[in-house]
Amino acid sequence: MDELHKIARAYYITANEESKSQGRRFFKSIDHDGSRGITIQEYLPYMKRNGHTKMANRPFFDYLNVSGTGELEFMEVMTLFYIIKSGRKFCDGCDGLLKGTFFSCTDCFDLDDESFNLCSECFTESSYVHPHRHFLDNYIILENMKVANKEGQMNHQVS
Ligand SMILES: [Zn+2]
Ligand SMILES: [Zn+2]
Repeated sequence: MDELHKIARAYYITANEESKSQGRRFFKSIDHDGSRGITIQEYLPYMKRNGHTKMANRPFFDYLNVSGTGELEFMEVMTLFYIIKSGRKFCDGCDGLLKGTFFSCTDCFDLDDESFNLCSECFTESSYVHPHRHFLDNYIILENMKVANKEGQMNHQVS
């Protein structure tokens, strides 16, 4: 079980009743035959239909299926729910899910409609094609944004 599974579990356990039933509805919407387990035959069409093309593949299904049973159980689907809800990004080098710290192109980030992100492997190995060269990791970007916000507020108070 990796970090994302743990985060998703923590959210579900501490969620209020409304969020929990949202999670249950999400599960049911994929579990067509109501067997309380989601097979790859249920998973793939659902993901494609809903535009989650980068997750619509066998390796991703296996990643979610920590129990290794070949069918996704409820908590495993909550990991998927969390990944979708939190708008997790994918590496623009290898297409893998960005599970932890990742690197963002600061030029693209400033344009803020299209971001360009890399996992640390692709960033380190320079295995990507991109016109810009300035990258920062997501924590630094968040911190810089906080500082920029504070400065913005201070300027506002002065004027
Ligand atoms: Zn990558
Ligand atoms: Zn860029």
